[in-house]
Amino acid sequence: METFSQTHEVTIRLSFFIGTFVAMAAWEVLAPRRALTVAKAARWANNLGLVAFNTLLSRLLFPAAAVGMAAFTTDQGWGLLNHFQVPPLVSVLIAVIGMDFVIWLQHVMVHAVPALWRLHRVHHADLDYDLTTGARFHPIEIVLSMLIKFATIMVLGPPVVAVLIFEVILNGMAMFNHGNVCLPKRLDSLLRWMVVTPDMHRVHHSVEEDEANSNFGFNLSCWDRLFGTYRDQPRGGHEGMTIGIHRYRDPKQVDRLPGMLVLPFIGRAHGYVINRRNWSKDDES
Ligand SMILES: [Zn+2]
Repeated sequence: METFSQTHEVTIRLSFFIGTFVAMAAWEVLAPRRALTVAKAARWANNLGLVAFNTLLSRLLFPAAAVGMAAFTTDQGWGLLNHFQVPPLVSVLIAVIGMDFVIWLQHVMVHAVPALWRLHRVHHADLDYDLTTGARFHPIEIVLSMLIKFATIMVLGPPVVAVLIFEVILNGMAMFNHGNVCLPKRLDSLLRWMVVTPDMHRVHHSVEEDEANSNFGFNLSCWDRLFGTYRDQPRGGHEGMTIGIHRYRDPKQVDRLPGMLVLPFIGRAHGYVINRRNWSKDDES
């Protein structure tokens, strides 16, 4: 299983990526949640251009990727799960849930630390919210995420197959919960007891600071509920809310590749990050 996961890593991840991408793209056309505000073709070309660039960069810098790191730590006997006699299935479950918690913490951190928010705002500056938003991140944030993932794998010692499962789920869920799609309300509220739905994550992409600093989860919805960062719906409603960042609203800047790449390095990061938030009355509780 270990060698199978390693040798077929790229094929498995790519097939799931393409499959989910096509399904979500079709769903967005058939039942869109909101009307898009920016021309889709150019926005998609630039968002996907950034994705292609990041994929090449990660393969170049980290050819073995997270799956390779998991194989290495398993061989060395490193990490918590390699130290205890845990049944394989339980080990996979603990690893997937553990990695999801770390990625939630990482997401809170990139919102809280001013310099990291500069990187992460490339993801948030998209003026529309659809499946391509889910994949656009600044290359430096991609490298940072990879290093955090490597460290997590070294400490946790997850089975190789768990890392592959986690990568496939995270990739698919990022496209699903950034989807500009309609889900029946009852199904949405049922699903959110377990996973992050598009309506739940859309709140996080609001221009409003308190809404953007909530719903940090990518896969499981329990972390936001447990740690008090859960927010049910956006104040303006899903059709009426504004997506993006207040002060960066020029499509030529935020939805074009060169603009996205320089975005972390321009302007001052005031008025948004957690330690500089303007407290309002209902924040006091
Ligand atoms: Zn975010």
